[in-house]
Amino acid sequence: MGFTAIDRIPGIVAGLRYSFDQGVTRPESWRREQLTRLRDLLLDRGPEFERALGDDLGKAPTEAQLTEIGFLVAEIDHALASLSGWMRPRRVGLPLALQPASGKVVPEPLGVALVIAPWNYPLMLALSPVIGAIAAGNAVVIKPSELAPATASLIAKLVPDTLDRRAIAVVEGAVPETTALLTERFDHIFYTGNGKVGRIVARAAAEHLTPITLELGGKSPAYVDETVPLEEAAKRLVWGKFMNAGQTCVAPDYVLGTRSVLARLAPLLGDAVHELYGSASQQNPDYGRVVNRAQFDRLVGYLGDGDPVVGGGFDESALHIDPTVLAGVSREARVMQEEIFGPILPLVEVDDLDDALSFVVGRDKPLAAYVFSDDPAVRARWERETSSGALAFGVPVMHLTAPELPFGGVGESGMGAYHGELSFRVFSHEKAVLAKPLRPDTLAATVMPPYTAAKDGI
Ligand code: NAD
Repeated sequence: MGFTAIDRIPGIVAGLRYSFDQGVTRPESWRREQLTRLRDLLLDRGPEFERALGDDLGKAPTEAQLTEIGFLVAEIDHALASLSGWMRPRRVGLPLALQPASGKVVPEPLGVALVIAPWNYPLMLALSPVIGAIAAGNAVVIKPSELAPATASLIAKLVPDTLDRRAIAVVEGAVPETTALLTERFDHIFYTGNGKVGRIVARAAAEHLTPITLELGGKSPAYVDETVPLEEAAKRLVWGKFMNAGQTCVAPDYVLGTRSVLARLAPLLGDAVHELYGSASQQNPDYGRVVNRAQFDRLVGYLGDGDPVVGGGFDESALHIDPTVLAGVSREARVMQEEIFGPILPLVEVDDLDDALSFVVGRDKPLAAYVFSDDPAVRARWERETSSGALAFGVPVMHLTAPELPFGGVGESGMGAYHGELSFRVFSHEKAVLAKPLRPDTLAATVMPPYTAAKDGI
């Protein structure tokens, strides 16, 4: 397909704005039809999406279904089942001094939205926000990631043929195209990716006072203590970490534990890697690969930062890195300075719970924190003393499959949250509507001059 010509971008956005202004996207029937068509597209063309995700990331078809295609279908089903309720104005109570009157909150679409997506779940993260944008009655520009080119061009080919071109457009491109898009005025920008570009998006949005959602990343810790069955904990950690070859924003980035816990956990993590991916992960179709050479080089550079308990091998020609668990990693090691975003799991020793908590609290607020402890007092301390986009006990990653749990970061891991009803709210303005009859004329007696002592404090 090729990138969108930069000089076409202003016209594309203007076309969508015209359609929005004409009211094309407002009727519930239009929203339902677009969502249903998108659902049908995902189901009918599933094998093509699976192939594209395989080309871009070596993603197994089952994983593509579980984490991208099926996830989107479930989000659409939830939106279709809930849309009428979400759209319904909400009556609110009013203070006595305002009576008689009625008040309600009316959700209205914001206008034209821009969705900028990353490469790691290139289908799911491009379309999941779009579900919210459409449900809320917006026009939308989708900018898929150029670093997942097979998926990006499939989206660019299929979406315009399926959805209403008057209101939904795909712009293909890299930095120059995204930069051109960002000079346009949007009514919401929804960006998923790294914090450096998040800042670029925030600066561009400030020019037009455009509200933004930033879904960023960070180092999501996992803490394990001796109160849980370690075999099961190891298996869940391995699954959450090595899915998509570790390129998951909410993957456990590293594991904290005391010396004795880590000594018992390390071999169990090795066993779990063998159980899930076998002893030759490179030949295992269930295991993905690193997205590109730049990421591969960065990740291979971390392998010397600890002692491999399992893995440690790599193949440059295939962009393959074994699922690797590193023991004896120091807090100062490079692998502990930035988000790993690849199949390397460092084990970092702590003295005790206090040490683990202060380690996490002393760093940027992560997108998720995972705690494997059956001790209610330990759980309570993580809940009370740490801040993260999400906190999950006993299981990594899965919180994002619950439509009623907000998905988003805090601080360096982002701002704003979506999924389920929140996706609808992100792309809506909650308009306050007040109606007060002119008679009886209660205001003259209460708030209008001449001010008398009786009017004080009303
Ligand atoms: P990426 O390189 O694909 O970039 C994301 C988007 O930003 C792309 O569409 C790209 O074209 C655009 N972009 C890149 N440079 C730009 C620039 N200078 N100006 C304007 N636009 C630009 O993806 P990435 O950032 O490498 O993604 C990985 C990061 O995303 C990780 O930090 C990960 O944790 C985070 N992430 C977060 C979530 C979440 O839901 N919170 C999900 C997935 C990934």
